[in-house]
Amino acid sequence: MVASFAAVASLWAQAVEPLQQLEQQLSEIPAAQALILLDEFQLEPDSASGYDKAKLHFLYGMQYQRGRQLEQAIASYDKAIALIKSLAVSDLLIDTYLERSFVLYLTTNDPEAYCGDRDKALTLARLHGNKQLLAKSLTQKAFCYNKVTNVHQGIALLDEAMLLIDTEAITDYNRKAMIYNATGSLYRTVGLHKRGYVNFNKAYQTWSEIDDTQDMFNMLHNMISEAVKLGDWDKARGNIAQQFSLALSAPEFIDFRFFAHLNAGRVELATHNYAEAIEHLKQAILLKETTREQYFVTGSYLFLAKAYLRTGEVEKAAEMARTFKKNNQFPKNMTSMALTANAIIALDEQQYLSAIYALLEVIDEEREKHKQIIDNEVIDSALEHNAKLAEFENQLLANQLAINELSLAAVKDKERIYDLRLSIFFLVAIVLVIAILFLWHSRKTFKHSAQTDFLTGIANRGHTFKLGQRMLDRAIKKQRSLAVIIFDIDNFKSINDRYGHHVGDLAIKAVARRAERWLRDCDLIGRIGGEEFLIVLPDVTEAEAMEISERLREGIATQPFQFDEQVIELTVSLGLAPFKMSQTSLTELINQADRGLYKAKFSGKNRVYFVEQFA
Ligand code: GH3
Ligand code: MG
Ligand code: MG
Repeated sequence: MVASFAAVASLWAQAVEPLQQLEQQLSEIPAAQALILLDEFQLEPDSASGYDKAKLHFLYGMQYQRGRQLEQAIASYDKAIALIKSLAVSDLLIDTYLERSFVLYLTTNDPEAYCGDRDKALTLARLHGNKQLLAKSLTQKAFCYNKVTNVHQGIALLDEAMLLIDTEAITDYNRKAMIYNATGSLYRTVGLHKRGYVNFNKAYQTWSEIDDTQDMFNMLHNMISEAVKLGDWDKARGNIAQQFSLALSAPEFIDFRFFAHLNAGRVELATHNYAEAIEHLKQAILLKETTREQYFVTGSYLFLAKAYLRTGEVEKAAEMARTFKKNNQFPKNMTSMALTANAIIALDEQQYLSAIYALLEVIDEEREKHKQIIDNEVIDSALEHNAKLAEFENQLLANQLAINELSLAAVKDKERIYDLRLSIFFLVAIVLVIAILFLWHSRKTFKHSAQTDFLTGIANRGHTFKLGQRMLDRAIKKQRSLAVIIFDIDNFKSINDRYGHHVGDLAIKAVARRAERWLRDCDLIGRIGGEEFLIVLPDVTEAEAMEISERLREGIATQPFQFDEQVIELTVSLGLAPFKMSQTSLTELINQADRGLYKAKFSGKNRVYFVEQFA
């Protein structure tokens, strides 16, 4: 186990490491030198695997590609693919397909030619599980769908690629920006310039994250083109200003100023500021040596020709148009530009009919383009419509959720209100009960105090009369016996005079309490005057009543009272009137007892006078 591991390790050390080192070195030197270095590199003839040989071919292909030796590049990639096609799927195989496809794109610009490789790369990448490579393959394959009818398939692949990038822990800004750029390019190809602009802008923003100046500049260029197509001059001018400022801050990118002036010239021309357009385009042409992009240099001559034409400088316009035409490598989509140049030249040569014909052709050409753009606009609005529908559905869903939440909240509120109501109900109930208890209690105390003599605690005059009447009524009704006593403390004035009012009060209280002691529970005693009391005795015979009266008199008279260390002897006089069936009112009975009391006083006090009959 250890031995075989060591063997594999040494194989890696011999074969893989030098190749990796070589790859690193190649990336640091110009293509021409790199090819020399590659020629000098020797693989171990015996131990080198098909993979290693393929890798070497791949590296050759990359360097040929850098040096624009595109035919040789394709040949190298062919050899690499032939060597590893039948081996297990590898990053190298996928990469080689993708690179060969790119060179085929550069050489043929024909999807028929370059999309086969991208298809293979994508199929393998899906099997292989290298997310980076899968994202790359998806992005490249997307360019194969550049027709109005299939562009949505390309966009779907780019969305898939973006999803892959977004699930990565570390954002690959470069890859992400490339996907936005690809998306913008697809939209631009089918004439959906609004979408093109939006995606180039996203690519620009993403590349700004990693300060990729070259790509930022390229994206600004694309955004300007799209803004011009859309006639959005404010955006175009803003992006041009941005290009000038990049040109200033990064002078190492020598062609930035050329492109900034060219774009400024185009926009000024389109917005009828011909003098400014001429100024910028002249500047661009002065800087033509700074760029290798001949297409744009050629284009700038025609723009300048048009600008001169608009200022009436036909001769200068024709001169520029001829310079434009001299560079006869026009891409296909420059036909209308060539026709325009023809028209300008014809005008200068005073061949007006030719000029008109050329312009009519331009119109036809533009009409054809426009027709396509209109078709695309329809698709765009359809896409927009779909997006709006989806948005609307989402909104509906969100609203539904919000409604659910609201009704849930409403239910909760209802419950809360119910709880609150219940609490309030209980609170009110408790308060009411307390209030009722309080009222009942105060009524009771009020009633009690309304019925009670404050000094002695026994029934007061009013209450005594009331209760007494009731007892009499019952006696009448039930034909029971009853007797009434009125008694009064003797010589009370002198008690007050001798001992003071306070002691007098204590005496009244003590007498009432002692009288109570000699009475039964069913008897009534009340204070009906200063030191005058009424007693009602139900169910007593005259003899019993007499006995109670006598006991009361004796009980007071024989036991002295002690108040504040003062020993005081008191006596009372009593008038006793028994109830006779002939009487119906208590007052009558009391009057009789009172007469008895008077008699007792009169006859010497400290005695009971029994009223036997009407006097
Ligand atoms: P008699 O034996 O004839 O009843 O003589 P008397 O002094 O008791 O005379 P009378 O009944 O006329 O006087 C009662 C006095 O009792 C008059 C009043 O000043 C006094 N008095 C009445 N109510 C109170 C009271 O609540 N407290 C005190 N300290 N004195 C009272
Ligand atoms: Mg008295
Ligand atoms: Mg009196």
